[in-house]
Amino acid sequence: MPAQFDTEVLIVGGGPGGLAAAIAARLQGLEVMMVDRRQPPIDKACGEGLMPDGLAVLRALGVELDPHRQRAFHGIRYFDGETMAEGRFPGVAGAGVRRLDLHQSLVRRAEQLGVDLRWGLRVDGLSRTGVETSCGPITARWIIGADGLGSRLRRWAGLETAAATWQRFGVRRHLERQPWSDCVEVYWADGCEAYVTPVAAEEIGVAILWSGRKAGFDQLIQSFPKLADRLTGAEVVSRDRGCGPLRQRSKAVVRGRLALIGDAAGYVDAITGEGLSLAFHQATALATALRQGDLSLYSRRFRRIARVPDAMTQLLLWIERRPALRRRVIRALAHEPAIFSRFLAVHCRALPVRRLGLETAPRLLWRLVQG
Ligand SMILES: Cc1cc2nc3c(=O)[nH]c(=O)nc-3n(C[C@H](O)[C@H](O)[C@H](O)COP(=O)(O)OP(=O)(O)OC[C@H]3O[C@@H](n4cnc5c(N)ncnc54)[C@H](O)[C@@H]3O)c2cc1C
Repeated sequence: MPAQFDTEVLIVGGGPGGLAAAIAARLQGLEVMMVDRRQPPIDKACGEGLMPDGLAVLRALGVELDPHRQRAFHGIRYFDGETMAEGRFPGVAGAGVRRLDLHQSLVRRAEQLGVDLRWGLRVDGLSRTGVETSCGPITARWIIGADGLGSRLRRWAGLETAAATWQRFGVRRHLERQPWSDCVEVYWADGCEAYVTPVAAEEIGVAILWSGRKAGFDQLIQSFPKLADRLTGAEVVSRDRGCGPLRQRSKAVVRGRLALIGDAAGYVDAITGEGLSLAFHQATALATALRQGDLSLYSRRFRRIARVPDAMTQLLLWIERRPALRRRVIRALAHEPAIFSRFLAVHCRALPVRRLGLETAPRLLWRLVQG
């Protein structure tokens, strides 16, 4: 590395995306500094369901989750009124894990690998040679923006697009309750969904996503009377955390020596619960590009990583806005659990889209028409 830089790679933001990028870059032999304005462990509003492919990337990066502070889940269950549809993952499980625990595991691995971690340091601007921070400038050959949904690096780099007019928000709460399901459960209502993720032997997380005005957990949970009943009397064990607007787009993920990763690189919605997995895939792609000194490789790989998840998220959001269609789709999936499972296999990258099966679309359409 030329002597004029403080570090080869500077990562702004020490959430899961930034830490995974730091770990992956260190594994490629690069010198890495990471700064975050907060102190670890860092919590955030999240459904906390790690898809099987995201879990596999974490393992490949050598990140070990505490076996007592996670809970395997084997598929996704949709509830809509009296209808229940269940899809199972193809042999491999996902994991529900509290953000605090995930963060601790990522920090531990980054420390082990010798990442220079600077907590409590806020980045206030970009400069020609690096960034300006609350404690002075830092210079770097490469700058990685991993500063989350409302990324300021995205804005400073001129990569921000206009805000979406249709806005969705999220809020989450943890309750002391033995998980009753080995799946992540999604309860659908008009304009909002609730996600129940098992995160430990005696704990579940409930995240609610909705569109429209800002609202609180206690008000929103009333849209799901069965779930609300089930949670009655359970002790609340975390402070509610909210987040939004969720939809954030970026004109590009690379500009000059700067690359964006995780939510900072653009986010569609949490409806498919895969933001973490996407960030982990991006982290390994980015580290390879950094080692080769060519960020355009990352740009191209990023598009490939995002293509199917973005399409699936857009499709689900489109259905979500049409309650009558949504009910039909969930009834169709309830009748066709094998098709639901195949979609999940595509979702967690175990099956290419082209292998969904020729009969899938006509079968699903036939079920939809049947109502
Ligand atoms: C309600 C909800 C439910 C979700 N459910 C799931 C799910 O079940 N599964 C899943 O995989 N994903 C889920 N997601 C998405 C997931 O939470 C995100 O994709 C993930 O947190 C992205 O990580 P990140 O590291 O990019 O950003 P963040 O976790 O937001 O980290 C950004 C970091 O940057 C730091 N930072 C910001 N600005 C600065 C600055 N100026 N200087 C220094 N540091 C700075 C912040 O302190 C923070 O630590 C959900 C999201 C929401 C909102």
